[in-house]
Amino acid sequence: MITCKSGKELIYMRDAGRIVAQTLAELAGAVKVGVPTLELDQLAEDYIVRAGAKPAFKGMYGFPYSICASINEEVVHGFPSLRKLKNGDIISIDTGAEINGYFGDSAVTLPVGDVDSEAMLLLKAAEESLFKGIEHAREGARLSDISNAVQTCAEGYGYSVVRDFVGHGIGGKLHEEPQVPNFGRPGRGPRLKAGMTLAIEPMINMGTYEVRTLSNNWTVATLDAKLSAHFEHTIAITGGKPEILTKAGKR
Ligand code: MG
Ligand code: MG
Repeated sequence: MITCKSGKELIYMRDAGRIVAQTLAELAGAVKVGVPTLELDQLAEDYIVRAGAKPAFKGMYGFPYSICASINEEVVHGFPSLRKLKNGDIISIDTGAEINGYFGDSAVTLPVGDVDSEAMLLLKAAEESLFKGIEHAREGARLSDISNAVQTCAEGYGYSVVRDFVGHGIGGKLHEEPQVPNFGRPGRGPRLKAGMTLAIEPMINMGTYEVRTLSNNWTVATLDAKLSAHFEHTIAITGGKPEILTKAGKR
């Protein structure tokens, strides 16, 4: 069942979303050549806890960290580690927070130092595909209108859309119904209603959309070892424009 959130629930989700956005903004300032990703994890955890929230990922399905830190060909679910960021890397950081029983979830991919123009274009296209998806998250539209908008944008750049991992409903749980694929024909699936809250999260690959899971049984990487980018926002369907709950600078 896809739930529609009440006004009060949306207030809690705005709180969670704001904390996630602020955490990612804090981390963006800390992403630098030579920084180990474990340090970013600690920063995120401290920030979320100081804000009065809980790191949503830590312990979820047994995931041991507060952020996912996925470098270069890693798509999602990368483990923070002592590995230091190198000049020219791209890093996807995904994090979530829970406050008053409600969740926010957002991800961003950032360049480290000087990144080549091909990688920068991938980041631009992946973020743009997220916003194209969000534009279609409108009351009365169908769920797959979002999916199709993401895919059309990403493939328009010649990139591919990961099939094995998808976005999701979110609210009193981190993962709720429905699944929100980043690919598919428009005009399918449930009709969107005001109060539905979704985490839309395209994972866009430079080469093949196929992925593999690494030996830690968590980290997902591209099968061809080419770069991947991941952007995510938690949004609420309204009577008008969708509301981005994890937008930076939102109060
Ligand atoms: Mg996420
Ligand atoms: Mg998510």
